[in-house]
Amino acid sequence: MENIVPLKITVVRLGHRVDRDKRMTSHLGLTARAFGADRVILSGDKDDTPLETWRSVTSRFGGEFECMYEPKPMRWLRAFSKSGGKIVHLTMYGRSWNEMTPDLPSGGEIAIVVGGTKVPGELFGLADYNIAIGNQPHSEVAALAVFLNAYVGPKGPDHFPGGSVSVMPSADGKILVSKED
Ligand code: SAM
Repeated sequence: MENIVPLKITVVRLGHRVDRDKRMTSHLGLTARAFGADRVILSGDKDDTPLETWRSVTSRFGGEFECMYEPKPMRWLRAFSKSGGKIVHLTMYGRSWNEMTPDLPSGGEIAIVVGGTKVPGELFGLADYNIAIGNQPHSEVAALAVFLNAYVGPKGPDHFPGGSVSVMPSADGKILVSKED
Protein backbone atom coordinates (compact mmCIF):
# COMPACT_ATOMS: atom_id res chain seq x y z
CA MET A 1 0.00 0.00 0.00
CA GLU A 2 1.69 3.23 -1.08
CA ASN A 3 2.31 5.63 1.74
CA ILE A 4 -0.27 8.36 1.07
CA VAL A 5 0.90 11.68 2.50
CA PRO A 6 -2.19 13.56 3.73
CA LEU A 7 -3.04 16.77 1.94
CA LYS A 8 -2.38 19.87 4.05
CA ILE A 9 -3.79 23.09 2.62
CA THR A 10 -2.64 26.57 3.60
CA VAL A 11 -4.39 29.63 2.18
CA VAL A 12 -2.10 32.66 1.91
CA ARG A 13 -3.86 36.04 1.82
CA LEU A 14 -1.56 38.64 0.29
CA GLY A 15 -1.94 42.37 0.75
CA HIS A 16 -4.65 42.75 3.40
CA ARG A 17 -5.62 46.42 3.73
CA VAL A 18 -7.01 47.14 7.18
CA ASP A 19 -8.97 50.16 5.96
CA ARG A 20 -10.81 48.38 3.11
CA ASP A 21 -10.47 44.59 3.31
CA LYS A 22 -11.76 43.83 6.84
CA ARG A 23 -14.93 42.00 5.80
CA MET A 24 -13.44 40.52 2.63
CA THR A 25 -10.42 39.09 4.47
CA SER A 26 -12.59 37.84 7.32
CA HIS A 27 -14.90 36.06 4.86
CA LEU A 28 -11.89 34.68 2.98
CA GLY A 29 -10.65 32.92 6.12
CA LEU A 30 -14.11 31.63 7.00
CA THR A 31 -14.45 30.28 3.45
CA ALA A 32 -11.02 28.66 3.64
CA ARG A 33 -11.99 26.95 6.90
CA ALA A 34 -15.47 25.85 5.76
CA PHE A 35 -14.22 24.46 2.45
CA GLY A 36 -11.41 22.35 3.89
CA ALA A 37 -8.24 24.40 4.28
CA ASP A 38 -6.15 23.62 7.36
CA ARG A 39 -4.63 27.05 7.88
CA VAL A 40 -4.73 30.66 6.74
CA ILE A 41 -1.69 32.94 6.65
CA LEU A 42 -2.60 36.62 6.73
CA SER A 43 -0.19 39.22 5.32
CA GLY A 44 -0.27 42.90 4.47
CA ASP A 45 -1.47 45.28 7.18
CA LYS A 46 -1.10 43.84 10.70
CA ASP A 47 -4.68 43.32 11.88
CA ASP A 48 -5.79 40.98 14.68
CA THR A 49 -9.51 41.26 13.86
CA PRO A 50 -9.66 38.57 11.13
CA LEU A 51 -7.48 36.24 13.25
CA GLU A 52 -9.79 36.70 16.25
CA THR A 53 -12.85 36.04 14.07
CA TRP A 54 -11.40 32.82 12.65
CA ARG A 55 -10.29 31.55 16.07
CA SER A 56 -13.67 32.34 17.59
CA VAL A 57 -15.59 30.52 14.84
CA THR A 58 -13.25 27.54 15.13
CA SER A 59 -13.71 27.44 18.88
CA ARG A 60 -17.52 27.47 18.51
CA PHE A 61 -17.98 25.25 15.44
CA GLY A 62 -15.01 22.91 15.90
CA GLY A 63 -12.16 21.62 13.78
CA GLU A 64 -8.39 22.07 13.89
CA PHE A 65 -8.18 25.27 11.81
CA GLU A 66 -5.10 27.45 12.40
CA CYS A 67 -4.25 31.02 11.44
CA MET A 68 -1.30 33.34 11.76
CA TYR A 69 0.10 36.67 10.56
CA GLU A 70 3.18 36.66 8.31
CA PRO A 71 4.94 40.00 7.67
CA LYS A 72 7.03 38.64 4.76
CA PRO A 73 4.76 36.37 2.68
CA MET A 74 7.03 36.13 -0.37
CA ARG A 75 9.92 35.00 1.83
CA TRP A 76 7.55 32.47 3.41
CA LEU A 77 6.42 31.25 -0.03
CA ARG A 78 10.01 30.89 -1.32
CA ALA A 79 10.91 28.79 1.71
CA PHE A 80 7.68 26.78 1.35
CA SER A 81 8.51 26.03 -2.28
CA LYS A 82 12.12 25.14 -1.45
CA SER A 83 10.89 22.67 1.18
CA GLY A 84 8.82 20.87 -1.46
CA GLY A 85 5.46 22.56 -0.96
CA LYS A 86 3.38 23.17 -4.08
CA ILE A 87 2.00 26.66 -4.72
CA VAL A 88 -1.33 27.34 -6.40
CA HIS A 89 -1.84 31.00 -7.29
CA LEU A 90 -5.45 31.92 -8.01
CA THR A 91 -5.43 34.63 -10.67
CA MET A 92 -7.70 35.66 -13.50
CA TYR A 93 -4.66 35.41 -15.80
CA GLY A 94 -4.17 31.71 -15.15
CA ARG A 95 -5.21 28.48 -16.86
CA SER A 96 -8.75 27.25 -16.32
CA TRP A 97 -9.44 25.52 -13.00
CA ASN A 98 -11.45 22.72 -14.51
CA GLU A 99 -8.54 21.80 -16.79
CA MET A 100 -5.98 22.05 -13.99
CA THR A 101 -7.66 20.52 -10.95
CA PRO A 102 -7.16 16.88 -12.03
CA ASP A 103 -3.38 17.50 -12.31
CA LEU A 104 -3.03 18.83 -8.77
CA PRO A 105 -1.34 16.76 -6.05
CA SER A 106 -3.68 14.69 -3.90
CA GLY A 107 -1.26 14.75 -0.94
CA GLY A 108 1.47 16.85 0.68
CA GLU A 109 1.69 20.54 1.47
CA ILE A 110 -0.27 22.89 -0.79
CA ALA A 111 -0.37 26.70 -0.48
CA ILE A 112 -3.21 28.50 -2.25
CA VAL A 113 -2.37 32.18 -2.74
CA VAL A 114 -4.88 34.96 -3.33
CA GLY A 115 -4.15 38.65 -3.72
CA GLY A 116 -5.51 41.85 -2.33
CA THR A 117 -3.41 44.79 -3.39
CA LYS A 118 -1.18 44.45 -6.43
CA VAL A 119 0.18 40.91 -6.59
CA PRO A 120 4.00 40.71 -6.96
CA GLY A 121 4.96 39.63 -10.50
CA GLU A 122 7.47 37.20 -8.96
CA LEU A 123 4.56 35.08 -7.72
CA PHE A 124 3.55 34.01 -11.24
CA GLY A 125 6.94 32.37 -11.70
CA LEU A 126 7.22 31.01 -8.16
CA ALA A 127 3.80 29.33 -8.33
CA ASP A 128 3.63 25.75 -9.56
CA TYR A 129 0.12 26.43 -10.87
CA ASN A 130 -1.46 29.75 -11.91
CA ILE A 131 -5.16 28.93 -11.97
CA ALA A 132 -8.12 31.05 -13.09
CA ILE A 133 -11.74 30.69 -12.06
CA GLY A 134 -12.74 32.15 -15.40
CA ASN A 135 -10.64 34.90 -16.97
CA GLN A 136 -12.74 37.80 -15.70
CA PRO A 137 -11.89 39.87 -12.60
CA HIS A 138 -13.98 38.98 -9.56
CA SER A 139 -13.26 38.24 -5.90
CA GLU A 140 -10.74 36.28 -3.89
CA VAL A 141 -13.55 34.79 -1.81
CA ALA A 142 -15.47 33.53 -4.84
CA ALA A 143 -12.28 32.21 -6.45
CA LEU A 144 -11.23 30.36 -3.31
CA ALA A 145 -14.67 28.86 -2.71
CA VAL A 146 -15.05 27.51 -6.23
CA PHE A 147 -11.49 26.21 -6.32
CA LEU A 148 -11.54 24.51 -2.91
CA ASN A 149 -14.94 22.95 -3.58
CA ALA A 150 -13.61 21.48 -6.82
CA TYR A 151 -10.26 20.46 -5.32
CA VAL A 152 -11.25 18.87 -1.99
CA GLY A 153 -15.06 18.95 -2.11
CA PRO A 154 -17.57 20.15 0.51
CA LYS A 155 -16.73 19.31 4.13
CA GLY A 156 -19.28 17.59 6.36
CA PRO A 157 -19.57 17.65 10.17
CA ASP A 158 -16.81 15.01 10.58
CA HIS A 159 -14.30 17.62 9.41
CA PHE A 160 -15.19 19.83 12.39
CA PRO A 161 -14.88 17.73 15.57
CA GLY A 162 -15.22 19.39 18.95
CA GLY A 163 -16.55 22.91 19.29
CA SER A 164 -19.54 23.96 21.36
CA VAL A 165 -22.26 24.11 18.73
CA SER A 166 -23.24 22.61 15.40
CA VAL A 167 -25.90 23.38 12.84
CA MET A 168 -28.72 20.91 12.31
CA PRO A 169 -29.73 21.33 8.63
CA SER A 170 -33.35 22.45 8.44
CA ALA A 171 -35.75 22.99 5.57
CA ASP A 172 -37.45 25.94 7.18
CA GLY A 173 -35.61 27.35 10.16
CA LYS A 174 -32.38 27.82 12.10
CA ILE A 175 -31.39 24.93 14.42
CA LEU A 176 -28.18 25.31 16.41
CA VAL A 177 -27.37 22.26 18.56
CA SER A 178 -25.27 22.70 21.70
CA LYS A 179 -22.52 20.10 22.06
CA GLU A 180 -22.04 20.90 25.71
CA ASP A 181 -25.30 19.59 27.17
N1 SAM B 1 -5.38 44.16 -7.50
C1 SAM B 1 -4.95 42.75 -7.51
C2 SAM B 1 -3.88 42.58 -8.58
O1 SAM B 1 -3.59 43.57 -9.25
O2 SAM B 1 -3.39 41.49 -8.75
C3 SAM B 1 -6.10 41.80 -7.77
C4 SAM B 1 -7.40 42.19 -7.13
S1 SAM B 1 -8.51 40.81 -7.16
C5 SAM B 1 -10.02 41.50 -6.63
C6 SAM B 1 -8.01 39.96 -5.69
C7 SAM B 1 -7.71 38.50 -5.92
O3 SAM B 1 -8.89 37.79 -6.28
C8 SAM B 1 -6.72 38.18 -7.01
O4 SAM B 1 -5.39 38.43 -6.60
C9 SAM B 1 -7.00 36.69 -7.22
O5 SAM B 1 -6.30 35.92 -6.25
C10 SAM B 1 -8.51 36.60 -7.00
N2 SAM B 1 -9.25 36.57 -8.25
C11 SAM B 1 -9.99 37.55 -8.78
N3 SAM B 1 -10.53 37.16 -9.96
C12 SAM B 1 -10.11 35.88 -10.18
C13 SAM B 1 -10.30 34.91 -11.21
N4 SAM B 1 -11.07 35.18 -12.29
N5 SAM B 1 -9.70 33.70 -11.08
C14 SAM B 1 -8.92 33.41 -10.00
N6 SAM B 1 -8.69 34.28 -9.00
C15 SAM B 1 -9.28 35.50 -9.08
